[in-house]
Amino acid sequence: MKQSLINLLPPATVAAIWAFWGVAPAAWTQGPWAIIAVGLGTLAFVQLLELVFERHEGWRINGRELLTDVFYVAFGYGVIGFLSDTLVNGPLGELKEAWGIGTPWLAASPFLVQVLVVMFVFEFGQYWMHRAMHNWTPLWLTHAPHHHITQLNAMKGFIGNPIELFLISLGITALLDVNLNALFAAITAGGAIATYAHANVRADPPIWYGYFFTTIRNHSLHHTALSYEDTRCNYGNSVIFWDRVFGTYKEGESEVVGQDDRKRLSIKEQWLFPLRPWLEKRKTAA
Ligand SMILES: [Zn+2]
Ligand SMILES: [Zn+2]
Repeated sequence: MKQSLINLLPPATVAAIWAFWGVAPAAWTQGPWAIIAVGLGTLAFVQLLELVFERHEGWRINGRELLTDVFYVAFGYGVIGFLSDTLVNGPLGELKEAWGIGTPWLAASPFLVQVLVVMFVFEFGQYWMHRAMHNWTPLWLTHAPHHHITQLNAMKGFIGNPIELFLISLGITALLDVNLNALFAAITAGGAIATYAHANVRADPPIWYGYFFTTIRNHSLHHTALSYEDTRCNYGNSVIFWDRVFGTYKEGESEVVGQDDRKRLSIKEQWLFPLRPWLEKRKTAA
């Protein structure tokens, strides 16, 4: 396939997802499994693309990486999804009812406007949360495991310490009046962009796409192994536009990713990472 067509894969995927939620028959989009099918289907599709249009040989998926990634995807969909729904989205929805907060203008807007508003509002919060994680040590200790991954693949966005995964799932979109299909379109399109932004796929989308949305170029630079200081740019998980607005956008890419000595962490090490300073102190004291 011609490189110029490969480069169109991310925008084409996003457009297909928006179109699915916007125009597919209700029988397809309704029901609790539709959003899971689109989410997991996109992940599987991009993971398969890695086999056909590889970006870097050093990032090639293997059994151990795949197993860890699948574990985290299941953990994200199951545990993290449950926690953010019960602890945050549910109560926010009740608060919205009790206080009579509403955004009826949004629900009355065209479908694509609703989708974009949800995506940009959610990513606005995500941007500041992610930036705070790179600026305050206690938060960094929860986020560092995501930066210790030594290669990028389709499912790598799901990898991290559970505390970080919970924090990064938080948002205020439950306060918005929005068409359910538009909400699902925003979630799954944002997921697709973040998936491509972590994937070992040789697709460099056109400038107009990369102006608003995160690409593998800019996100691989955020994962650079050069130094911790060099990772402090391109915070947008799927909407890089906020980096441009708030001055943290940096052009470039990185093939060598990881942190410190680039040692790959096990799941146990990822989960215990925030306790590291304390564990090390205890070790030297003993
Ligand atoms: Zn980061
Ligand atoms: Zn990442």
